[in-house]
Amino acid sequence: MGTPEPVLAGVGNTILVLSGKGGVGKSTAAVQLAATLRAKGHRVGVLDVDLCGPSIPRMLGVEGRDVLTTPEGKWVPVSVDEEERLKVLSVAFFLDSKNDAVIWRGPKKNAMIKQLLTSVVWNVDYLIIDTPPGTSDEHISVMENIRQAPVLGAVLVTTPQMVAVDDVTRELTFCRRTGISILGIIENMSGFVCPTCSECSNILASGGGEQLAEKAKVTFLGRIPIDPTLSRCTEEGLNYIDKFANSPICQIYHSIITKL
Ligand code: ADP
Repeated sequence: MGTPEPVLAGVGNTILVLSGKGGVGKSTAAVQLAATLRAKGHRVGVLDVDLCGPSIPRMLGVEGRDVLTTPEGKWVPVSVDEEERLKVLSVAFFLDSKNDAVIWRGPKKNAMIKQLLTSVVWNVDYLIIDTPPGTSDEHISVMENIRQAPVLGAVLVTTPQMVAVDDVTRELTFCRRTGISILGIIENMSGFVCPTCSECSNILASGGGEQLAEKAKVTFLGRIPIDPTLSRCTEEGLNYIDKFANSPICQIYHSIITKL
């Protein structure tokens, strides 16, 4: 039997981004955290293990790129910028068409995750792992594999409504059971800031994430409002953090980074 492949070689710190359910802005948050760390001068990677809905390449504007392989058979992540300070690897790069769904059974998913965690040449200070929503086979597989890797912890993303918050409670329990430290909770889509008068209206319920953080005794990282510009940037693969460096959301992400 050969020596096992090292897990996440060339990665300084790993941050997992989790959410209890889909559509709460987990991938958006993963991308903004990565772009903020990069704006602070770090070399950052994003690993998209959301096998059923990999959206990171589109959000970073590198959809459809080819993944190169080293002579040793390792994958080279796709660079988002010329300086190679933001790189990404996603299962989406291995699908024939962007509309192909990954319909794999557990063992094949686990094998793919293991390969994504052991066969990539990263050379980054931070790796952000975007996981699928919930606590599925993929999570267990990620957790089992990253035990020996340098993991900073998990960031949980929720919307303010209680349904999404209940799902996050399950996620918190999952982290505690698997021994992953919880870096904190982001409350996303929390209020809408009027582009004309800058007044923030809580069109959905608000404060659920903050209350949960208090109850669970974890750090409340911040509240991100609904912003059509952020949505447009993620849909069009534009770097919101660099483009709107003075925006309130950009400043909130900078403050989140200091709390990790
Ligand atoms: P998830 O990864 O939880 O499924 P996504 O990150 O894909 O969710 O986000 C779902 C949709 O919501 C995307 O269209 C994204 O652009 C949008 N979105 C996420 N966060 C915000 C926000 N704060 N303001 C506006 N749109 C947002």
